Order: sequence, then structure tokens, then C-alpha cells
Amino acid sequence: MTTKMFDLGGKVAVVTGGNGGIGLGMAQGLAAAGAHIVIVGRDAAKSEQAAAHIEGAGGRAVALQVDVTDEAQVQALFAQIAERCGRIDILVNNAGTNIRKPTDQLSLDDWRTVIDTNLTSAFLCSRAAYPHLKQAGARGRADGSGGGKVITIGSMMSIFGAGYAPAYGASKGGIVQFTRAMAAGWAADNIQVNSVLPGWIDTDLTRRAREQVAGLAERVPGRTPAGRWGEPDDLAGIAVFLASAASDFVTGTAIPVDGGYSIAG
Ligand code: NDP
Repeated sequence: MTTKMFDLGGKVAVVTGGNGGIGLGMAQGLAAAGAHIVIVGRDAAKSEQAAAHIEGAGGRAVALQVDVTDEAQVQALFAQIAERCGRIDILVNNAGTNIRKPTDQLSLDDWRTVIDTNLTSAFLCSRAAYPHLKQAGARGRADGSGGGKVITIGSMMSIFGAGYAPAYGASKGGIVQFTRAMAAGWAADNIQVNSVLPGWIDTDLTRRAREQVAGLAERVPGRTPAGRWGEPDDLAGIAVFLASAASDFVTGTAIPVDGGYSIAG
């Protein structure tokens, strides 16, 4: 019973930015629970490598090269996945970026790049996935296998402000509200939409942050009750929970996975 609750066998999960970092950590968790993974990213070689890694561990994965800020590419992507895989049950809107500058030094292009990558892409992908997720919700109602699922990725910047990350903070605050709107709007379709707020996780993104923000490398473990940086694998469990029947009555939430960073005084 417990195992069945988390079983993703036969389901198709699309993970944007699934070729590395947090996206790959989540994709590996979803694959281990039985889902067929579609890795979406711009770097085709990196995506192929990630898919091969998942397959090497006994999972199923394909890689597709798409810029998720491009409306036409996103529309074509979901049509292609539906045709190739026959269904789409789970969407993880994970692709993201940051440009670290204070507001007075941020160009309009910088602002648009961050907002488009972190927030607009989630809108484009969720809208394109909706008809397929609605079918997943109907299947779940019929056989108890779980609803259609959307997972968005917020941040500690959904909660806190940082002077060096105005566009990033705006995108990550916005994604939480967008998540709530989708959750309220699509609940009747048996689609659950939830946000994960990762703490400080060791990835390419934060490797660059450690180079650019003085003292960050030491400040994070010092301020995190768990006393360490997170690893991409730390996000695997929450991905499985939010993608499975175990979370069918959980929607519109924003769940920190942060080693206690957000509750420490
Ligand atoms: P990475 O830089 O390792 O991964 C970012 C991913 O996004 C890459 O796979 C990249 O693939 C993809 N991506 C970026 N732009 C596009 C695009 N236009 N189209 C398609 N894919 C794109 O960073 P993380 O793993 O750290 O970040 C993943 C998510 O987690 C982001 O939303 C980030 O904001 C969030 N996050 C990260 C935290 C951390 O501490 N690391 C903390 C809180 C949130 P490619 O380059 O091939 O396109």
C-alpha cells in the first residue's frame, strides 16, 4: 500500500532543466519511482548525458533540446512528447537562471532574461501541458493512480530579499503566487500544483554564486541548522511525493527543502 502510493510506474514526467543540478536530482528520484523521464534543456550533449545516466541506473529517459522561454518551441515540445510517449502525467518547471546585480545596475535585458527563464517558462510549459495533465487527472480519478501533477521551483528568495538578486527574487516570489493560481484553477481537474523552495544546494548555479558573492560559501552552512550545503539528491524525495498519489490532497503549497534555513532565528 505504502509503496503503491509512491509508485510512478507507467507515468511520463517532463523535467525542464533536468540535465543537471536540482533538475537531475529530481529526475533521478522520479525515475527510481518508475516514471519515464523527458529531460528538457538547451545543451543537447548535457541532456543526452543525463538521460544516459538515468538509463544506466535502470530508469527510462529521453532528452529533448528546447529553449523553454520560446513559446513556439514549448508548444511543439509538448505535442512531440504526447506523440512519442502517449501521455504526460507530471511536469517539473525547474529551468532557471540568475543574474546577480543590484537593481541600479540591472539592465532591462538582464531583468527579462531572468523573468523569462524562471517565471514565463513555467507559464508556457504549464499551459501547453494542461490538456495532457487534465487527462492524467481523469485517469487518476478512475483508477486511483494519482492526479496530474505540476511542481514549480521557488527559492529562499521566494521568502527573503537579497540586494544582489532583484529579478531572481521577483521571479521566485511570482512563481509561488502563480503556483497558487494554477492550483486553485485546476483542482477540479484533479491536477495538483505545488512549489518546492530549495535552500542552498550545491549546483553550477550556486558555484557561480559562490564566486560572485563574498563569504557565501561559509555563510550558508553557518546559517543552516543542518550545517551543510544541500545536494541535488536532497530534492529527490519531495519530487516523488509531489508527483505521486501520496500528495493528491496537497495543492498550492510552497514547501521548503532547506535543512531548516528558513526557520532559523
Ligand atoms: P543549474 O544551473 O545547475 O541548472 C539550471 C538548468 O536550467 C539547466 O539544466 C539548464 O539547462 C536549464 N535552463 C536554463 N535556461 C533554460 C532555457 N531557456 N531553456 C531550457 N532549459 C534552461 O541550476 P540549479 O540546479 O541550481 O537550478 C535549478 C532550479 O532550482 C532553478 O529554477 C533555480 O532557480 C532553483 N534553485 C536553485 C537553488 C540552489 O541553491 N541551487 C536554490 C533555490 C532554487 P541548459 O543550460 O542546457 O538549457
